Amino acid sequence: MLYVVSTPIGNLGDITYRAVEVLKSVDLIACEDTRKTRILAGHYGIRTHLTSYYEYNKAAKGDYILRILKEGKRVALVSDAGTPGISDPGFSLIRSVLDSGIGVVSIPGPTALISALSISGLATNKFFFEGFLPVKGGPRKKRLTWLKGLGTTIVVYESPHRLLKTLEDMAEILGDKKIVVAREITKKFEEAIQAGPQELIKRFKASKPRGEFVLMF
Ligand code: SAM
Repeated sequence: MLYVVSTPIGNLGDITYRAVEVLKSVDLIACEDTRKTRILAGHYGIRTHLTSYYEYNKAAKGDYILRILKEGKRVALVSDAGTPGISDPGFSLIRSVLDSGIGVVSIPGPTALISALSISGLATNKFFFEGFLPVKGGPRKKRLTWLKGLGTTIVVYESPHRLLKTLEDMAEILGDKKIVVAREITKKFEEAIQAGPQELIKRFKASKPRGEFVLMF
């Protein structure tokens, strides 16, 4: 059995009792960055062996994890933050485990997109999760134009070093549409700001973007 275990998106307190129990009892934890997961494991007295599974070793490590599962062992998959498989490499492992006929179960918990959406004040009855926008300007603008046409709430993940460029493209494509920027959710400098792209650009030019961001409009 593969357990897909959600872990905190910042505040270490945001984990379920069941998640801790599963992480303590499995034979192996596959995680992205062992240093990050070791902090969580140390906090909760989890002594299970960790192995890294990330973008650049996912093919070879995926085969290894599959072999372990085929031996009848129990493996937990976690990511650096939130729910594995949501805009992180967990997806490939989950796909190949399912294709092998091995069981996959969810141990639910935090994910940045739902946490951000829930405090956005935007309509949540229908929404579209974009994940990360294309890195290059041309495809990003094209995608924003397409997203604008959907007429529903859009949720986008963004890194601090691309935030300004994305806001500039949003100003061009979305005009003065209000955008909600949720930053550092569950952490010390958590905030959610709603403003037009130009105002946000001014703000993040005055004070360098830091931390993790979810943009919604
Ligand atoms: N699997 C994760 C989840 O369930 O949300 C997402 C992984 S993705 C590689 C990382 C992105 O999630 C960050 O670039 C940021 O956009 C968003 N994110 C993660 N933690 C966050 C937080 N505490 N506050 C705001 N955004 C966050």
